[in-house]
Amino acid sequence: MRVHESLIDLVGDTPLLRLNKVTEGLAPTVLAKVEYFNPGGSVKDRIALRMVEQAEKDGLIGPGGTIVEPTSGNTGVGLAIVAAQRGYRCVFVCPDKVGADKLAVLRAYGAEVVVCPTTVAPDHPESYYSVSDRLAQTIPGAWKPNQYTNQNNPESHYRSTGPEIWEQTEGRITHFVAGIGTGGTITGTGRYLKEVSGGRVKVIGADPEGSVYSGGSGRPYLVEGVGEDIWPETYDQSVCDEVVAVSDKDSFLMTRRLAKEETLLVGGSCGLAVEAALRVAATASPEDVIVVLLPDGGRGYLGKIFNDEWMADYGFLSAETEEPTAADVL
Ligand code: PMP
Repeated sequence: MRVHESLIDLVGDTPLLRLNKVTEGLAPTVLAKVEYFNPGGSVKDRIALRMVEQAEKDGLIGPGGTIVEPTSGNTGVGLAIVAAQRGYRCVFVCPDKVGADKLAVLRAYGAEVVVCPTTVAPDHPESYYSVSDRLAQTIPGAWKPNQYTNQNNPESHYRSTGPEIWEQTEGRITHFVAGIGTGGTITGTGRYLKEVSGGRVKVIGADPEGSVYSGGSGRPYLVEGVGEDIWPETYDQSVCDEVVAVSDKDSFLMTRRLAKEETLLVGGSCGLAVEAALRVAATASPEDVIVVLLPDGGRGYLGKIFNDEWMADYGFLSAETEEPTAADVL
């Protein structure tokens, strides 16, 4: 029988898909690494698996243990899946800008979720960094993976995402583009691709306007999962040749185009990364092969990016779109 023994075995080996429509008029090949094919629906399954496996080896978590982590949802899903398999309890701490659907998914996997305000400074006692620290210290047998400092985060990409992309493109990749959140994806994947290509592959980070990676002060932006107000240890800026700043509006409009034109229903950080990739493509050579990583699917954003009213409230859609009547669709 062709069966998989565990959902965990399905982490990684995601497909590389050519973008055909949003690339119209651009000569280089643009390929999307579609991470929603992971069993938890995002790129974060990769880091969850490696962080837990290594923690077990290092004796940091064992039977009866609890995983405590500040996460915008995707890392939580990955950790929840790995934890459920091994019988660990999960407590996740999320900022309040995260969509309700994402929180419901975490709870569905049996995790407990604590929501914290986005507007307070990182060192404020109610910030999601502080709350998760406090919980990790007080819950007996708790272990905090800390995706912002854990070197197994970039390492998982160095060992899986990077080699997959190199093999899938048969070494023809010339540019790698990814959003920067913890920086794990770009650091691990970019480092591997640079090493294996002898420094030939260019690595380009995509960052929300206002975030520190592209020179901002940490001013709030709406794209979820990317951008920071502090510099995490998991991001090695020497791996990035360039960081492109993209506005919320451009990120969300591209996210909607990806759904309509490429039938890729993906999250806002995917629109951000593709927008950056297309800017790179506009100045690249026809024989160049640009790979852009799409971290997650779009179902968690239906009430926001894919909701016309929400988009109009923020001024991202110019014309108010009304629900079509039966006469309109005839
Ligand atoms: N997009 C989404 C939706 C994410 O959840 C994350 C992870 N925070 C990223 C992009 C960025 O990935 P990384 O943390 O590896 O930089």
